[in-house]
Amino acid sequence: MPTRELPEKSEITIIGGGIVGVTIAHELAKRGEEVTVIEKRFIGSGSTFRCGTGIRQQFNDEANVQVMKRSVELWKRYSEEYGFPFEQTGYLFLLYDDEEVETFKRNIAIQNRFGVPTRLITPEEAKEIVPLLDISEVIAASWNPTDGKADPFHSTTKFALHAEEFGARLVEYTEVKDFIIKNGEIKGLKTTRGTIKTGIVINATNAWAKLINAMAGIGVKIPIEPYKHQAVITQPIKKGSIKPMVISFKYGHAYLTQTAHGGVVGGVGYELGPTYDLNPTYEFLREVSYYFTKIIPALRELLILRTWAGYYAKTPDSNPAIGKIEELSDYYIAAGFSGHGFMMAPAVAEMVADIITKGKTDLPVEWYDPYRFERGELRGQALQMG
Ligand SMILES: Cc1cc2nc3c(=O)[nH]c(=O)nc-3n(C[C@H](O)[C@H](O)[C@H](O)COP(=O)(O)OP(=O)(O)OC[C@H]3O[C@@H](n4cnc5c(N)ncnc54)[C@H](O)[C@@H]3O)c2cc1C
Repeated sequence: MPTRELPEKSEITIIGGGIVGVTIAHELAKRGEEVTVIEKRFIGSGSTFRCGTGIRQQFNDEANVQVMKRSVELWKRYSEEYGFPFEQTGYLFLLYDDEEVETFKRNIAIQNRFGVPTRLITPEEAKEIVPLLDISEVIAASWNPTDGKADPFHSTTKFALHAEEFGARLVEYTEVKDFIIKNGEIKGLKTTRGTIKTGIVINATNAWAKLINAMAGIGVKIPIEPYKHQAVITQPIKKGSIKPMVISFKYGHAYLTQTAHGGVVGGVGYELGPTYDLNPTYEFLREVSYYFTKIIPALRELLILRTWAGYYAKTPDSNPAIGKIEELSDYYIAAGFSGHGFMMAPAVAEMVADIITKGKTDLPVEWYDPYRFERGELRGQALQMG
């Protein structure tokens, strides 16, 4: 992907070249809009390439279930069309007590209502799906075979290349430094490589979103803070050993699965912040080793190759802020994904492109209303793992 010069002008400018900015650009360009992405480093270099690969529809509210159902349809369509791996190998939530089972029964009922085929299964059935599991303490599991995983690097790059084919311009190593605003209207953006004239701006910077909001002079309170989350990869093991994403809230809010290369990837709930620091910590290494081996004892034999860190851009209810900011024309935000922005991106792109090109969307975008914080109308906590 060539690094382009900053164009003199663009109808629409997206700040941030992560999966969210790139899929929005892809969707808008596909609809014939003139769009430019400005990325301060390289495409995918924020949280996107650091993420855990997981894509699930198992949420605990109607909006996220509907949005993720649509997102999975789009993951499936684009992975086939563009040739990147998206495997529907399922998500398996291990449950250890009656309270957890009751909560998941409620979640499953919501998911089933929207056609997501999640089922409560027995520990023995769970062990058939992942034979390496220790099920001695597991009393049930929530299983949806249509959830899955995709390679963040491969998929983001494919969306980026196709966005360019549709005419989007992706400008790397260029940082947005300021807005040019006259009478409440955006006229342009100042960057480290010059000025771009533009009327419509989308803030897709996730962990940095508050800095861009401050540059835009937005008064409305949109609390998004960066938290350090870490991940681990082991040496490769026999392909197909751990097909689904396995989740255990009991054991450290752990999530783990096997990548296409064969390594075991995942993380735990261990969180530090708010911070922009990204150094992996020894405490994480200890926690992840302890919890992973509780879930799959055979992992004791495996070598850990690497740990790394990235941001969860968290909001108080773990739901993103997506929509138009009315104080400034035309300014949109799609940020604060709280640890599940990779999976949401294709549907988010559709919602944002719908709002910009048609003024409305069929997906329940109101759930992510950026004004809900100011109004004190927090949503129920979105199911967050990791
Ligand atoms: C360890 C870990 C595991 C995760 N696991 C999962 C998972 O399994 N499934 C899932 O769905 N999600 C997961 N996530 C969350 C997921 O990574 C994020 O929600 C997602 O990548 C957000 O994408 P984005 O495009 O909004 O943000 P980013 O990828 O962070 O992109 C924002 C971009 O904005 C750029 N930027 C910032 N400021 C400026 C500026 N002033 N000018 C120009 N550019 C700027 C940054 O350089 C960055 O590239 C995980 C995250 C972590 C850290």
